[in-house]
Amino acid sequence: MKVVIVGGVAGGANVATRLRRLSEKINIILLEKGPYVSFANCGLPYHIGNEIEDRGKLLVQTPQGLKARYNIDVRVHNEAIAIDAERKVVTIVDSTNPSNRYEESYDELVLAVGAEPIRPSLSGLDLPGVFTLRDMADMDGIIAWISSHQPKRAVIVGGGYIGLEVAEQLKNRGMSVAIIEAVSQLLAPLDPEMAAFIHEEVLRSGASLYLNEPITAIEPSEDALVGMVRTAKESLIPADLVIMGIGVKPRTALAKSAGIELGVTGGVHVNQYMQSSIPHIWAVGDVAETINPILGTPQIVPLAGPANLQGRIVADNIMHPEKLTAFTGGLGTAIARVFSLSAASTGLNEKQLKKTALPYQAVFVHPNSHAGYYPGAHPIALKLLFRPDTGEILGAQAVGKDGIDKRIDVIATAIKGKLSVDDLCELELTYAPPYGSAKDAVQIAGMAAQNVVRGLVKVEHPWTFDPANHCGILLDVRDDDEVSRGRLPTARHIPLSQLRQRLHELPKDQEVVVYCQSGMRSYLAARILSEHGYRCRNLSGAFKSWSVAHTSRAV
Ligand code: FAD
Repeated sequence: MKVVIVGGVAGGANVATRLRRLSEKINIILLEKGPYVSFANCGLPYHIGNEIEDRGKLLVQTPQGLKARYNIDVRVHNEAIAIDAERKVVTIVDSTNPSNRYEESYDELVLAVGAEPIRPSLSGLDLPGVFTLRDMADMDGIIAWISSHQPKRAVIVGGGYIGLEVAEQLKNRGMSVAIIEAVSQLLAPLDPEMAAFIHEEVLRSGASLYLNEPITAIEPSEDALVGMVRTAKESLIPADLVIMGIGVKPRTALAKSAGIELGVTGGVHVNQYMQSSIPHIWAVGDVAETINPILGTPQIVPLAGPANLQGRIVADNIMHPEKLTAFTGGLGTAIARVFSLSAASTGLNEKQLKKTALPYQAVFVHPNSHAGYYPGAHPIALKLLFRPDTGEILGAQAVGKDGIDKRIDVIATAIKGKLSVDDLCELELTYAPPYGSAKDAVQIAGMAAQNVVRGLVKVEHPWTFDPANHCGILLDVRDDDEVSRGRLPTARHIPLSQLRQRLHELPKDQEVVVYCQSGMRSYLAARILSEHGYRCRNLSGAFKSWSVAHTSRAV
């Protein structure tokens, strides 16, 4: 059997190496149009900032290494330019010798061609000093520009994971950094009140932040290099270096010209076995449109984990067509470090859920990363989305300095395993004071959600709660010193320790929204009030979430 794989990085290299581990008999050809295979895209920002000092470390494998260890015929600088599915033949051009155009037949063909940066139609995108970051060549170009032009002012266009990682690295190199985002928040996978923590952090780091400002043009300097970024609000932001990071789109020209069906998202439509619409042609990674496991709707998840897994599945399916393995869908579990914070998410966010008919609820908690009495504990802002009728976990987001990956990974695993919020409460997780708490952050979120599912408490959301429009009573149950540092407008104050004695001050005919600093004390207050016959809601995430969310609206 002869398998031709187009694209030699995450998805493609995985197909190739897994195939070889399954069989010594197959002829495996790996085509890569660039000069490198199996390089670490995810590490590119960190070499720009010199955090990964050795460029060579990004080259995880070489053609020679793949030949020696796996007996794979790796052809770099070889671009597949056409597919004749009738004849089962690929046309290839060798870019080191463009007259070398040849055909290669296949029994099975895998498209692992990835995605390409979105380039909006804007003037100035081609000015020297404007870059995207997708591969080693892009990274080398940025580093060369920094060496030759010593830029002092960097502008990052697009506040996604990659944009923010690059922002951090350029800041570390001593540049002033401005981040421009077309919509009202950074990091689209997060909901706005969670992104608000990131907005604060970006500003705290000294970077400037322009939200709700789509760029309209990049303008040249006097010497015809990049000089200025103009936005729809007519902000003019000086720039000696611009990184465009407004997202990616699947690279589908090759598939389209071969008549392979594309899906509604623009990616190559595949079934659960990663088979395209044309027999013997498969697609994996950023180019493939898969199905969201919670919603059952098409999606593209341009992340390394799914690309790697799909590569393995395709290799298995090529070798074992009688016993196909399904890709069950990606949750989009992702994380990025943004200066001193980490932000991570899995599953659906509330913005997505609002567009569906699924019933959902959210709780916000602020537990510590590990036992508070052990040095170095940091708060975690954790939002858990779930179905209030069944307790099914729908998604989660977390922001904080420490332990963010662990919490979101546990919840991602729980979603994958179809666990409920009840199950989260019962997880048995590692605990010793330097690492966690006997009641871990994930369990605390599970318990808060379980309380909602069981009808013990109703919650109000920090992003949507507006004290000015609240008709009932707003009650602050924190201690005096906390209240003196700031409170919600119109709030009455009764410290939790006095609540039972002072219930007579609260009329029973009005709903009470109660809050504390992080949500624990107000939950207890809500229970006391409910037991005494009050209608009440707990402001989930409490003063912490509310104040960060509402400050960030003003950014
Ligand atoms: P790619 O890895 O992009 O590989 C596609 C390859 O196909 C390319 O090398 C391309 O040159 C080649 N190719 C395209 N067309 C042809 C053709 N016609 N003929 C021959 N070769 C062709 N994901 C995470 O999960 N975590 C992260 O932290 C993270 N950080 C990232 C940081 C950066 C800067 C970037 C760019 C991406 C990051 N990603 C991250 C995303 C992740 O790298 C991708 O999701 C993953 O690499 C997709 O794998 P793929 O095989 O589909 O495509």
